Amino acid sequence: MKRIGVLTSGGDAPGMNAAIRAVVRNGIYKKLEVMGIRHGFLGTIKNTYHKMVRGSVADIIHRGGTVLQTARCDEFLSPAGRAQAAENIRKAGIDGLVIIGGDGSMRGAQLLEQEQDIPVACVPATIDNDVGRTDFCIGFDTAMNTVIDAVNKIRDTATSHERIFVVEVMGRQRGFLTLHAGLAAGAESIVIPERPLSIDDICKKLEHGFKRGKKHSIIMVAEGVGGDFQVNRDLYQSKAFSLAEDISRQVGRETRVIILGHLQRGGNPSARDRILASRMGAHAVDLLLTGEKSVMSGVVHEQLVHTSIELALAEEPALNKEMLELAHILSL
Ligand code: ADP
Repeated sequence: MKRIGVLTSGGDAPGMNAAIRAVVRNGIYKKLEVMGIRHGFLGTIKNTYHKMVRGSVADIIHRGGTVLQTARCDEFLSPAGRAQAAENIRKAGIDGLVIIGGDGSMRGAQLLEQEQDIPVACVPATIDNDVGRTDFCIGFDTAMNTVIDAVNKIRDTATSHERIFVVEVMGRQRGFLTLHAGLAAGAESIVIPERPLSIDDICKKLEHGFKRGKKHSIIMVAEGVGGDFQVNRDLYQSKAFSLAEDISRQVGRETRVIILGHLQRGGNPSARDRILASRMGAHAVDLLLTGEKSVMSGVVHEQLVHTSIELALAEEPALNKEMLELAHILSL
C-alpha cells in the first residue's frame, strides 16, 4: 500500500479533526502518501482528492467539526454510485480508505469493499455512541459535556422561577447521551427509548420532589422516545413538547421545553475525544497496512481493538443498566 485516502462522512462529531490529523501524520510516518477527500462519499464521486502533508493538519486538533467537511451522499446508496466512486478512487491511485463517520458511513464503507474490493478501515465517530464493539465513539464525550453545560444554565433559571424544564437530547434511537448526561447533570427524570417512563411515573416523582421542597425539576428526554421503533403504547410515546403539556396538566405547574438540537454537535473536542480520535485514527492506518478486511477500530476497556464492520453494525451497543438504576435512585 502506497497511497491512502481519508474522508469524514455523515453527521459531524467533535474530534473528527483530531482523527484526520492522526491518519495523515501516522500515514506519513509509515511512508504512505495521504489524500484528503472533501465532502465524504460525495467527494469520491466528484473527485475532491487532494494531497495532505503534515502541515495540512496543523492547528486542527482542538477544533470541532471537520476540515474535510462532511456530506450525505444519495448516489452512494446505489451499486452504480459506489462503482463510480471505486473507479475514481483507483484512478487517483488510492489503495485504501480511512472512513470516519457513524453507522451509515460504515455501511457504505462495507459495501464499497465487498463490491469493489477497495480496502476500508473505519473510525466510529458519532455523538449518539450507537455503534457496537467499541465502548465509545468519537464525539460522545464532548457532546455529553455540552449537554451538561447547557443543563447547568437551565437549572439556574429553573430554580429562580421554580419551573419544570423538559430538555430534549440528541441520540437518535438510543439513550446513551441522555443517560450519561442526565446522570452527570443530576436530572430528576431520564426518559430514554430503552426504558421509557409513563407520564404517571414522571409526575409522581415530580410531586414527591416538590413536596420535600425541590425548587425545580429537570426532565431529560432522548429524541428517540416516541420514535417508530416504540411499540408499547402503554408507555409514554411523545416527545418533549407533548410531554411538557401533559406534565403541566397533571401537576398544575408551568413547564418549559428546551430542544438542545445541533449545538450538541459543535464545540471544541474534550481531552478524552481528542485522545480517542488520535488513537483510533492512527490505528485505522495500521489496520489498512496489515491488510485487515472491512475493519473498524474500537476501544474496549481503554484498549484499542479491531473488529469487522459487520459485527460492529450487527451488535447492539449495550446501555449500562447499573447507571440507569443509579440515576433513578439518586434523583428520588
Ligand atoms: P452517519 O454515518 O453519521 O450514520 P448517515 O447514516 O447519513 O450518517 O450516512 C452517511 C452516508 O453514508 C450517506 O449519505 C450515504 O452516502 C452512506 N450510507 C449510509 N447508509 C448506507 C447504506 N445502507 N448503503 C450505502 N451507503 C450508505
